[in-house]
Amino acid sequence: MSSRTRAIITQSRPDWQVQQAEAVTSPGELARLLGLDIADLAGTRRAEEEFSLRVPGSFVARMEPGNPHDPLLRQVMVSGEEMDSPARFGRDPLEESAATPVPGILHKYPGRALLMVTGACAVHCRYCFRRHFPYPEHTPAPGRLEQALEWLAGREDIVEVILSGGDPLTVTDRRLRELVERLAAIDHIRRLRIHSRSPVMIPERITPELVDLLGDARWQATLVVHANHARELVSPLDRGVAGLREAGVWTLNQAVLLAGVNDTLEAQQALSLGLFEHGILPYYLHQLDPVAGAAHFEVPDERARELHGQLRATLPGYLVPTLVRETPGESGKMQV
Ligand SMILES: *Cc1c(COP(=O)(O)O)cnc(C)c1O
Ligand code: SF4
Repeated sequence: MSSRTRAIITQSRPDWQVQQAEAVTSPGELARLLGLDIADLAGTRRAEEEFSLRVPGSFVARMEPGNPHDPLLRQVMVSGEEMDSPARFGRDPLEESAATPVPGILHKYPGRALLMVTGACAVHCRYCFRRHFPYPEHTPAPGRLEQALEWLAGREDIVEVILSGGDPLTVTDRRLRELVERLAAIDHIRRLRIHSRSPVMIPERITPELVDLLGDARWQATLVVHANHARELVSPLDRGVAGLREAGVWTLNQAVLLAGVNDTLEAQQALSLGLFEHGILPYYLHQLDPVAGAAHFEVPDERARELHGQLRATLPGYLVPTLVRETPGESGKMQV
């Protein structure tokens, strides 16, 4: 990284850990910050018991005050609607429990394995397919990490490790480096990928230390961030991504197609164009996983295909994400 890029990133860096720790965690507080009344208090309380609210203040600052239908708010605000899910919305919709050879590892697709670094997230997304996931059993505690690394070392067919969770960038750069160094010691692992919503939530998370780590020539690293709406993208995310690009690291985006958030052509176009302006390429647009509590976010396949067709007809191909769904038992994400 050039000294100029480093200076810019360093200079604009409040402590991301402080932002992460000081997130808004109460529905009442969130409503108050936006000047809103909570309409369905009882439903909200029950929903909160299932999956608590969590959202960094800087993300709240991107919401429109006084708008109960704000697309950013809808992704994080607890809602009574979460309590009425049809039966086909289950607690482990991807049957991930079946794809776990050892705790902390998910292996479903050839050549790639997912390592769950932590159960924590910078934000709690109401549509999350892991909202009922038994994290304590899967987050590698010291002994578990050994077991996961041992499994990876014994599987020469695994060439790419995806750090996931939870959100792997909620842990410190130092812990991340220790983990990555240990992965790098396994000969057949050549590619490293990080799936994280943190750089969107708290753009200062792309620290100079993280850029140095990912840009290390010993591994080919890719960062896949997660933004669903153009208004989620704010500076200094663009500067962090520029630093990564300079270090030879790709930044891609995966989004989830969500009713009332980004299920219009305008929203999808703005997202793709906004990502490109921030130096990020669209990778996947996911159909919602049928997880209990998220049914109100569902967009029918027919509508999803129509939207995707309109995107292809109006944007350059490199700005059109692949529309996919995860289907238990398949060897890759399925195109819808
Ligand atoms: C999504 C996913 C991957 C990565 O799939 P790509 O198509 O390579 O992005 C790998 N393993 C698991 C278990 C996944 O869910
Ligand atoms: S950041 Fe990712 S894993 Fe965490 S709650 Fe949101 S969607 Fe789920």
